[in-house]
Amino acid sequence: MQRFPAAGPIATMVKTRFAPSPTGFLHIGGARTALYSWLHARRHGGQFVLRIEDTDLERSTPEAVAAILDGMAWLGLDHDEGPYFQTQRFGRYREVIAQMLAAGTAYRCYCTKEELDALRAEQMAQKIKPRYDGRYRDYDGPPRPGVEPVIRFKNPLDGEVVIDDLVHGPITIRNDELDDLVIARADGTPTYNFCVVVDDMDMGITHVIRGDDHINNTPRQINILRALGATVPSYAHVAMILGDDGQKLSKRHGAVSVLQYRDEGFLPGAVLNYLVRLGWSHGDQEVFTREEMIRLFDIGDVNKAASAFNTSKLLWLNQQYLMSTPPEQIAWLLRPFLSALGIDPDSGPDPVEVVREMACRAQTLQELAAQSAFFWQDFEAYDEKSARQHLKPEAAQPLACLRERLAALPAWEPAALHETVQAVATELELKMGKVAQPLRVAVVGRAASPGIDVTLALTGREAVLRRLDRALAHLAAA
Ligand code: GLU
Repeated sequence: MQRFPAAGPIATMVKTRFAPSPTGFLHIGGARTALYSWLHARRHGGQFVLRIEDTDLERSTPEAVAAILDGMAWLGLDHDEGPYFQTQRFGRYREVIAQMLAAGTAYRCYCTKEELDALRAEQMAQKIKPRYDGRYRDYDGPPRPGVEPVIRFKNPLDGEVVIDDLVHGPITIRNDELDDLVIARADGTPTYNFCVVVDDMDMGITHVIRGDDHINNTPRQINILRALGATVPSYAHVAMILGDDGQKLSKRHGAVSVLQYRDEGFLPGAVLNYLVRLGWSHGDQEVFTREEMIRLFDIGDVNKAASAFNTSKLLWLNQQYLMSTPPEQIAWLLRPFLSALGIDPDSGPDPVEVVREMACRAQTLQELAAQSAFFWQDFEAYDEKSARQHLKPEAAQPLACLRERLAALPAWEPAALHETVQAVATELELKMGKVAQPLRVAVVGRAASPGIDVTLALTGREAVLRRLDRALAHLAAA
């Protein structure tokens, strides 16, 4: 058995890459692959390369390139080199093809489509796996008139290729199972597997971390690398992500684009934390800072099996991040979400104070903005259940009394507000809840909010009095 030396981290600096094809947005699976590659580089003090594999001209779009770059930037997965674009490297691919033709590791194949179809039909009839039979491998005759040749790689005929996969362990493939791969089409354009090989070689990639949908490409790529005399990198093939129903993750399962998570009010740290745990663990730790991820992540500990996406866990993690991130920072991130609700964040309470009180009550920035909107703007309608329960006829007296006292209160601050509510309860011989809950529904529109004193303080006197009038009118009309 032939074993190929893997580029070890000892002498060589670790260099990983993320190599997306820009045919769509940066999805959750791609982001996890990017994260693992980035973490592996960061952990070993290495370098992380971003390479855009845009040779499929029909399916690649500039919008997708932009979405990938935006997604990476939002996640904070910074690259040390690139972005490289394969479409800018065609000259280099042509050069390597010429070298291989000269060295005899590649050859021109003049088979026509009809001949290949006939070969295929014959193999199918004989119940053998359809594959190119190498008929032009040793051809040294003149060019065949009327046929533009493709260029094929001369795959070794015997022996085996072993992928020392860092996730799956050694995977052995016999060379006689691999046919001679087309590396350049009849129009001269290089094929996908070939570009990847030239790039990984030229960019000095030491560790290729990618989705396990590429596992079949790896033995062919290793053979070409060897033919080029390049060092073969180590490979880690990461399992795919499934939806919570066990099916391949798709739009049906909700957001799959990383930027959609941003737009829904997830924090990049929470998304990264969620992704790192999807297929990797460190004891039973769930929350990891970026530094901890870098320190603890080990590609060798990544699960072989596919992992299922779990939205409620992501929401839970996001809430942890909303609570543990400094409120100043959350307040800043909250601004566009408030603006989207028609709120000018500078026109009312200090958003930092609001975040301090409200962060524990929401799982996303979007929800936090919606839950906090009442601090800035009058709510549209009372929550029905809360109104039924707390805005009853007997609430009119305490609310009217509060209206009067609050209008006259000299200092609009929590301690004085608390005393006022307490005093009204004592005076009317009511339990605190019979006063505070109607007041809360009057001001907030629903029966849940932070402490009534802070709620009133942050909402501001003008809005509180206006909403008390509204509640009194509501009761009068009932
Ligand atoms: N461009 C490939 C993809 O987006 C990745 C290739 C690789 O990582 O080798 O699936």
